[in-house]
Amino acid sequence: MEQVKCLIIGGGPAGYTAAIYASRANLSPVLYEGSQPGGQLTQTTEVENFPGYPEGTQGFDLVEDIKKQALRFDADIRNGAVTKVDFSRRPFVVEIDGSHTIEAQAVIIATGASAKYLGLDDEKKYAGRGVSACATCDGFFYRKKRVAVVGGGDTACEEAVYLAGLAEKVFLIVRKPFLRASKVMQDRVFATPNIEVLFEHQTLGLGGTDGVESASLVYRKGEADERRVEIKIDGFFLAIGHHPNTEVFGKYIETDEAGYIKTQMPSTRTNVEGVFAAGDVADPNYRQAITAAASGCKAAIDLERFLGSL
Ligand SMILES: Cc1cc2nc3c(=O)[nH]c(=O)nc-3n(C[C@H](O)[C@H](O)[C@H](O)COP(=O)(O)OP(=O)(O)OC[C@H]3O[C@@H](n4cnc5c(N)ncnc54)[C@H](O)[C@@H]3O)c2cc1C
Repeated sequence: MEQVKCLIIGGGPAGYTAAIYASRANLSPVLYEGSQPGGQLTQTTEVENFPGYPEGTQGFDLVEDIKKQALRFDADIRNGAVTKVDFSRRPFVVEIDGSHTIEAQAVIIATGASAKYLGLDDEKKYAGRGVSACATCDGFFYRKKRVAVVGGGDTACEEAVYLAGLAEKVFLIVRKPFLRASKVMQDRVFATPNIEVLFEHQTLGLGGTDGVESASLVYRKGEADERRVEIKIDGFFLAIGHHPNTEVFGKYIETDEAGYIKTQMPSTRTNVEGVFAAGDVADPNYRQAITAAASGCKAAIDLERFLGSL
């Protein structure tokens, strides 16, 4: 069976950054990229908030650059997804694509967290052209424009308030007749004059020629007073939660209720000694490329110290 010192699972900013640090520490890391080499940033166009790119860059180019930097130090970056793990003993046993099996002395999990979408065809049609799941990332592109945020929880309220500071008008589309968010977040929403909360509305579709120009909603679907509502918008932000990619680690790795891996802050250690977690998969709060890359660095340093202590 193949044996490695350092196995990195995930080919996004966190995984690639961990690979840079681990390879420069002489740990000969092997990294599996899964089904989305480059990670979430490959789904977007312009990235303007990653330090080191004064003119901004394309999401795909940014992750390619981080990957190239890891390859320069001979990180072994491979196609393939982890399909099963046995973390009950060390070296850990990790299965790739249901066939190949590897033994690893230490592991970094950097499998990301995927944004949840409503499941409308139009979300795919307008991806990167008005549909976004990240207000911090894309809000700046909608200065003085009109946007909608979908969701009724804390994140949705936070994103609506954030966008209200940039956009001319924000619609908060809420399926229920109330907000699930905490009282303090609700108060902030109701105190923001350019946010209009559309309770009991659901999105049917989006319209527009080159990008999003409108959304078709239904008010009180299935009720006697059901009616269609059209709103003019330039941006449509999903804020209905994320799905951390942790199923494959099953019973071994402790997560919170939403599935995010719990780490022993301020380190990247998980509940399993020798297994570390980096990036969005362990971060319900920030979910940015720079924070993911930073925690990839931390995980590689934690892993290197762990191996040194054996
Ligand atoms: C549309 C969009 C626009 C964004 N814009 C910005 C922006 O402008 N600025 C910014 O800072 N952030 C932005 N973000 C957020 C940013 O993309 C994430 O915070 C960042 O990519 C997280 O990095 P990560 O490495 O933790 O995970 P990800 O990028 O999600 O990468 C996860 C990796 O794990 C792999 N993987 C998953 N499961 C397995 C498995 N079983 N085996 C092997 N590999 C696996 C995947 O294939 C992928 O390679 C945006 C996100 C989206 C969706």
